[in-house]
Amino acid sequence: MRVLLVEDEPTLRAQLRAGLADAGYAVDDVGNGGDAHHLGANEPFDAVVLDLGLPVLDGLSVLKRWREAGRTMPVLILTARDSWHEKVAGIDAGADDYLAKPFHMEELLARVRALIRRAQGLASPLLQCGAIALDTRSGRVTLDGQPVNLTSHEFRLLAYLMHRPGSVVSRTELTEHLYAQDFDRDSNTIEVFIGRLRRKLPPQTIETVRGMGYRLAAAP
Ligand code: CA
Repeated sequence: MRVLLVEDEPTLRAQLRAGLADAGYAVDDVGNGGDAHHLGANEPFDAVVLDLGLPVLDGLSVLKRWREAGRTMPVLILTARDSWHEKVAGIDAGADDYLAKPFHMEELLARVRALIRRAQGLASPLLQCGAIALDTRSGRVTLDGQPVNLTSHEFRLLAYLMHRPGSVVSRTELTEHLYAQDFDRDSNTIEVFIGRLRRKLPPQTIETVRGMGYRLAAAP
């Protein structure tokens, strides 16, 4: 999952970036509204964390422009403490959730997880596909109740597929959602990780749909 982080305060931005990266997200971070608008308008993100007070273009305007252009990714806005009018304006501008500063990293991560899950119509934080269970809160994967050891790349890949069970996901889509913009993207990498993941899961769990991509199927 790829997250766009927009925060102009350098210390907070670095903390949030580290927290999101530790939680397994590919993170693109920017510090002004102009860059934020450009990236969010042109790159696919699974969620956006958007501060409202930003240089160049304020967060509310960025959000309004995205929504007017038909960008539907879930957006969590960061508001000033006790500023109820900012929350109202943000939600009316198209925000999906808000968090008032200061906040705990754990709360931000919980809200981002929920936004990503709900964007795919998933109500529970525990994702299930046949005998495979993925707990989005703990980052643990089990197969028939037994823990499966995955590297962070394998986990990211499986989590993306498990958020879209039964859908065909192309290699390009995977590359775009699993790596940030500054990452040296090579779609062969995806193939390598699919291969590694397959060896740890029941056969036929990850189907190759010729010429289109991959699909996660519940094992028979
Ligand atoms: Ca700010």
